[in-house]
Amino acid sequence: MRRTAPGKFTGGFSFAPSTEKFKEKWKVKQSEVVTFVPERVYIPTQQHIGAPPKLVVDVGDRVKAGDLIARAGDFVSANTHATIAGTVIDLLDWPDNSGNKVPTIVIKKEENEVTKGSKQAESFESLAKETLIDRVSAAGVVGMGGATFPTHVKLTVDDDAEVETIVLNGAECEPFLEADNLLMQVESRKVLTGARIAKKILGAKKIIIAVEDDKPEAIQKMREVTESFTDVSIEAVATSYPQGGEKQLLEGLLDVEVDLEGLPVDSGVYLMNVATSAAVADAVERQEPLINRLCTVTGDVKNKQTVSCPIGTLTGDLIDFCGGFEGDPRKIFVGGPMMGQAIDTLEVPITKSSNGLVVINTEHAMYYEESPCIRCNLCAEVCPMRLEPQNLDLYYRAGDYKRCQDLMADACINCGACTYVCPARRNLAKNITAAAGKIEELLQEA
Ligand code: SF4
Ligand code: SF4
Repeated sequence: MRRTAPGKFTGGFSFAPSTEKFKEKWKVKQSEVVTFVPERVYIPTQQHIGAPPKLVVDVGDRVKAGDLIARAGDFVSANTHATIAGTVIDLLDWPDNSGNKVPTIVIKKEENEVTKGSKQAESFESLAKETLIDRVSAAGVVGMGGATFPTHVKLTVDDDAEVETIVLNGAECEPFLEADNLLMQVESRKVLTGARIAKKILGAKKIIIAVEDDKPEAIQKMREVTESFTDVSIEAVATSYPQGGEKQLLEGLLDVEVDLEGLPVDSGVYLMNVATSAAVADAVERQEPLINRLCTVTGDVKNKQTVSCPIGTLTGDLIDFCGGFEGDPRKIFVGGPMMGQAIDTLEVPITKSSNGLVVINTEHAMYYEESPCIRCNLCAEVCPMRLEPQNLDLYYRAGDYKRCQDLMADACINCGACTYVCPARRNLAKNITAAAGKIEELLQEA
């Protein structure tokens, strides 16, 4: 059965003027990276999709930044590394941004921090494909755009797969987030190198780097660094939400429609986030593991900025570093306000996929009562997956999960666009996600 709705993604929607006002107020504009290293880090052993890694350190062990602290538990898994030099002072269950408590390694910084010397950069050109993948695997690189799928697994495609194009996703479409934008400006060569490594591994013919057209500095920097490469092009894509979604980007960019059960690679395209690409370059050329994260801290905080911090930095420490809250905080999202996760404790650590922290205070947080659906169809018009949010919501509320399954609730990417535009303020995205969870539960039981 064909599992994709008909029609083509034609560009999502722009945010309402009220959001634009905040976009200006909360805008982070900087051309250099600000760095913060806390006194302690809380590193979840598992920050990826796949098998949990196995601990290889104990309380009392001294580690350097970059040392392995948890080894991948299977092929579909990822290594975890110490992100600062110091002593392992605790192994405990600690909250992550899903609200669950997960196994976590606590490292206290050494007074005189000794950082592991960075290896001399080595060109990837002379390295065999297997060595390239092994180095990506050793470095614990995962999809940093939010997917957290281990990158070495994604790069290991079937022999008969024909990958024509590498697409770098620089469309950071959530409002207020600037981490990828800054990365493309300050590490443009590294971003390109990661894509060239993927191109070599997969035998692809060309690279397309997609950047939203409201990021002229990033476009300019990427153009400068790619001008001597005839197989690389920079595409300025429309600034609309959710342009950065995998399927939406490919439809808008290449007119490639990916079946819901398929992967972009089935259509000859390998898609990678720009931050992942830079991490691949470090993994291969310097054999450096993924231990730092660029994170935009904005909203109702005093100093809105994009900060490079060790993975495992607590959100509370990062907010303190940014001068603390403006007003009384009401909501804090890890990620953007559309697809990010609201957290209820400042003890949640930054992980490999935490590209933003958005704080909303009591003055700016808005609450609405739901009212009955007026059948305006706006939710269906904006849905990038061409679902019927209003009907999915109604069937979910009625407990008719079979109809939810027929209407492909599992295809929802939880972008929140339907909830955002609904004039009746219905909790569409939340209910559709719950419906997808229920369907999965029932399928497992069956
Ligand atoms: S949250 Fe799901 S149903 Fe709503 S617009 Fe996004 S993809 Fe469509
Ligand atoms: S946008 Fe809201 S009111 Fe309009 S059809 Fe969808 S659920 Fe109903």
